[in-house]
Amino acid sequence: MEESPSPLDLKNPACRGADARIFDWEPNPSRKPRTMLQLFDEAHAKSYCARCLDRAECLSIGMTPEYAAGTILGAMNPAEREDIRHGRVLAKRRKADRDRTARRKAHDKAHAARRKVSA
Ligand code: SF4
Repeated sequence: MEESPSPLDLKNPACRGADARIFDWEPNPSRKPRTMLQLFDEAHAKSYCARCLDRAECLSIGMTPEYAAGTILGAMNPAEREDIRHGRVLAKRRKADRDRTARRKAHDKAHAARRKVSA
Protein backbone atom coordinates (compact mmCIF):
# COMPACT_ATOMS: atom_id res chain seq x y z
CA MET A 1 0.00 0.00 0.00
CA GLU A 2 1.26 3.46 -0.93
CA GLU A 3 2.12 5.71 1.99
CA SER A 4 0.15 8.95 2.11
CA PRO A 5 2.13 12.19 1.75
CA SER A 6 3.18 14.02 4.86
CA PRO A 7 4.02 17.69 5.44
CA LEU A 8 7.39 16.42 6.67
CA ASP A 9 8.21 15.27 3.11
CA LEU A 10 7.99 18.79 1.67
CA LYS A 11 11.22 20.11 0.18
CA ASN A 12 11.22 23.80 1.16
CA PRO A 13 8.78 24.39 3.99
CA ALA A 14 9.02 27.94 5.28
CA CYS A 15 8.04 26.62 8.70
CA ARG A 16 11.13 24.45 9.05
CA GLY A 17 12.64 25.29 12.42
CA ALA A 18 9.62 27.35 13.49
CA ASP A 19 7.90 26.70 16.80
CA ALA A 20 5.47 23.90 15.86
CA ARG A 21 3.07 24.92 18.64
CA ILE A 22 1.91 27.98 16.71
CA PHE A 23 0.54 25.65 14.02
CA ASP A 24 -1.63 23.75 16.52
CA TRP A 25 -5.28 24.53 16.11
CA GLU A 26 -8.08 23.68 18.51
CA PRO A 27 -11.63 23.27 17.22
CA ASN A 28 -14.15 25.72 18.59
CA PRO A 29 -17.53 23.95 18.71
CA SER A 30 -18.99 26.38 21.24
CA ARG A 31 -18.04 29.30 18.96
CA LYS A 32 -16.49 31.19 21.86
CA PRO A 33 -14.34 34.10 20.76
CA ARG A 34 -10.76 32.97 20.23
CA THR A 35 -8.22 34.31 22.67
CA MET A 36 -5.72 36.93 21.57
CA LEU A 37 -2.96 34.33 21.92
CA GLN A 38 -4.81 31.87 19.64
CA LEU A 39 -5.43 34.60 17.06
CA PHE A 40 -1.84 35.76 17.26
CA ASP A 41 -0.48 32.22 16.90
CA GLU A 42 -2.70 31.53 13.89
CA ALA A 43 -1.67 34.77 12.18
CA HIS A 44 1.95 34.02 13.01
CA ALA A 45 1.69 30.50 11.56
CA LYS A 46 -0.03 31.80 8.43
CA SER A 47 2.73 34.37 7.96
CA TYR A 48 5.13 31.45 7.46
CA CYS A 49 2.70 29.87 4.98
CA ALA A 50 2.38 33.15 3.07
CA ARG A 51 6.01 32.94 2.00
CA CYS A 52 6.20 29.16 1.65
CA LEU A 53 7.16 27.67 -1.70
CA ASP A 54 5.40 24.41 -0.82
CA ARG A 55 2.09 25.98 0.15
CA ALA A 56 -0.02 24.39 -2.63
CA GLU A 57 1.37 20.93 -1.97
CA CYS A 58 0.98 21.43 1.77
CA LEU A 59 -2.66 22.43 1.29
CA SER A 60 -3.36 19.36 -0.79
CA ILE A 61 -1.88 17.23 2.01
CA GLY A 62 -4.03 19.18 4.47
CA MET A 63 -7.13 18.27 2.46
CA THR A 64 -6.59 14.55 3.10
CA PRO A 65 -8.61 12.93 5.90
CA GLU A 66 -5.46 12.19 7.94
CA TYR A 67 -4.89 15.91 8.42
CA ALA A 68 -8.53 16.96 8.82
CA ALA A 69 -7.90 18.28 12.32
CA GLY A 70 -5.31 19.70 14.62
CA THR A 71 -3.00 21.85 12.59
CA ILE A 72 -2.68 24.72 10.16
CA LEU A 73 -1.50 23.52 6.76
CA GLY A 74 -1.22 25.41 3.49
CA ALA A 75 -2.21 28.67 5.20
CA MET A 76 -5.56 27.28 6.28
CA ASN A 77 -6.85 26.03 9.58
CA PRO A 78 -8.88 22.79 9.67
CA ALA A 79 -12.21 24.66 9.71
CA GLU A 80 -11.26 26.60 6.58
CA ARG A 81 -10.18 23.38 4.85
CA GLU A 82 -13.46 21.77 5.91
CA ASP A 83 -15.35 24.67 4.32
CA ILE A 84 -13.52 24.06 1.05
CA ARG A 85 -14.17 20.32 1.27
CA HIS A 86 -17.89 20.93 1.59
CA GLY A 87 -18.11 23.73 -0.94
CA ARG A 88 -19.06 26.20 1.75
CA VAL A 89 -16.54 28.81 0.64
CA LEU A 90 -18.55 29.82 -2.41
CA ALA A 91 -21.80 29.73 -0.46
CA LYS A 92 -20.29 31.99 2.24
CA ARG A 93 -18.95 34.37 -0.40
CA ARG A 94 -22.33 34.54 -2.16
CA LYS A 95 -24.08 35.23 1.15
CA ALA A 96 -21.56 37.98 1.96
CA ASP A 97 -22.21 39.49 -1.50
CA ARG A 98 -25.98 39.37 -0.96
CA ASP A 99 -25.62 40.97 2.49
CA ARG A 100 -23.37 43.70 1.10
CA THR A 101 -25.85 44.45 -1.70
CA ALA A 102 -28.74 44.60 0.78
CA ARG A 103 -26.76 46.98 3.03
CA ARG A 104 -25.89 49.19 0.06
CA LYS A 105 -29.54 49.33 -1.06
CA ALA A 106 -30.66 50.21 2.48
CA HIS A 107 -27.98 52.89 2.66
CA ASP A 108 -28.97 54.35 -0.74
CA LYS A 109 -32.64 54.34 0.24
CA ALA A 110 -31.91 56.16 3.52
CA HIS A 111 -29.70 58.64 1.69
CA ALA A 112 -32.41 59.32 -0.90
CA ALA A 113 -34.97 59.82 1.87
CA ARG A 114 -32.69 62.33 3.65
CA ARG A 115 -32.19 64.25 0.39
CA LYS A 116 -35.96 64.38 -0.13
CA VAL A 117 -36.50 65.80 3.39
CA SER A 118 -33.82 68.47 3.04
CA ALA A 119 -35.05 69.57 -0.45
S1 SF4 B 1 2.38 25.99 3.83
FE1 SF4 B 1 2.69 26.58 5.97
S2 SF4 B 1 2.45 24.70 7.16
FE2 SF4 B 1 2.75 24.11 5.02
S3 SF4 B 1 4.94 23.72 4.81
FE3 SF4 B 1 4.57 25.84 4.23
S4 SF4 B 1 4.88 27.06 6.07
FE4 SF4 B 1 4.67 24.92 6.70
